[in-house]
Amino acid sequence: MIPISVVDLPPGTEASVLEVLRSGMLAQGRKVVELEARFADIVGVRHAVAVNNGTTALVAAMQVLDLEPGDEVITSPFTFVGTLNAILECGAVATFADIDEEDFTLDPVSVAALINDRTRVLLPVHLYGQAADMTALMPLARAHGLKIVEDAAQAHGATIEGRGVGTFGLGAFSFYATKNLTTGEGGMITTDDDFLADRLRVLRNQGMRDRYVYEMPGHNYRMTDLQAAVAVPQLGRYPQLVSQRQRNADRLITGLKGTPGLALPSQRPGRSHVWHQFTVRLLPDAAVGRAEFLERLAAGGVGAGVYYPKTVFDYACFRSHERVRVTEVPVAERVTAQVVSLPVHQHLSAEDVDTIISVVRNVLDGPAA
Ligand SMILES: *Cc1c(COP(=O)(O)O)cnc(C)c1O
Repeated sequence: MIPISVVDLPPGTEASVLEVLRSGMLAQGRKVVELEARFADIVGVRHAVAVNNGTTALVAAMQVLDLEPGDEVITSPFTFVGTLNAILECGAVATFADIDEEDFTLDPVSVAALINDRTRVLLPVHLYGQAADMTALMPLARAHGLKIVEDAAQAHGATIEGRGVGTFGLGAFSFYATKNLTTGEGGMITTDDDFLADRLRVLRNQGMRDRYVYEMPGHNYRMTDLQAAVAVPQLGRYPQLVSQRQRNADRLITGLKGTPGLALPSQRPGRSHVWHQFTVRLLPDAAVGRAEFLERLAAGGVGAGVYYPKTVFDYACFRSHERVRVTEVPVAERVTAQVVSLPVHQHLSAEDVDTIISVVRNVLDGPAA
């Protein structure tokens, strides 16, 4: 079976973790500081603040914006549940704009229609490793005085017009086991804003400025040095990892082009794609439905996944939630029924990619002419 994801740690990982174990500084030591500095370089941002996971990164980012009850956050309905849980954790009202069918990220026209005088935060999700349309979203945010929180959990190092995701406001990254960079569990908040970076550092450490000097109510959001030690050896090779994913994506696109009933992922002009996922859409005229498609892929030895099977709010616990404002998002609804992610990770050989192509084509191409 060709797996949809692999946890792949470079050879220096054991030595890096051992170094921390032997140092006796398991927390608040130097590895976290090193990871923060080097991750800030990858993103192209002044500050990176490490936290214990990606959901926490989103929560902390919104907490330092001092949202008030009734304040609204506009986000994508096509995302992982952590995005929505973070908004609710902060006491804000979650609202949802529709997405673009081709790039799977927020549709700026739909966002504009949702903005009202309670809107405080715009929270785009850079889904599957491609930036949302920040070029169109930033002027909207500026015109309405909205803060930007980016869910960059899947998009480490992705850029739009040369600018890294996570530099537009507050960026929230995840280092969960299956993400492009990993610490097992971990997260990072990035920003160019000195004031917000300082508040984030105080907030994540119980609101403590100096020993027993509390400046605000805080929390323990800290990352351990053991976690940071797992990530640091991955940083040097990260550009190669992304290039390998890009090569795999290119080969998949070339090989799958013209397959009946299949829409391929698009890489938008001006935006780099770090290919966290390679996600196709199975169209209504495809030879088989999605369930059968997934079965046939599995039978052919190709691991595939559906991210995400429903819009994020389409569960009873959210539909009935007083701070979840459900809207019509027809594109997102359609897309959730069509998406299938295929393996694109750096461990695929050219033969693996060709196997994926031929298994997919076998299912969809129909009888040979
Ligand atoms: C992984 C992910 C998160 C949450 O990150 P965790 O580290 O798992 O808490 C949030 N949003 C998106 C889009 C993600 O993919």
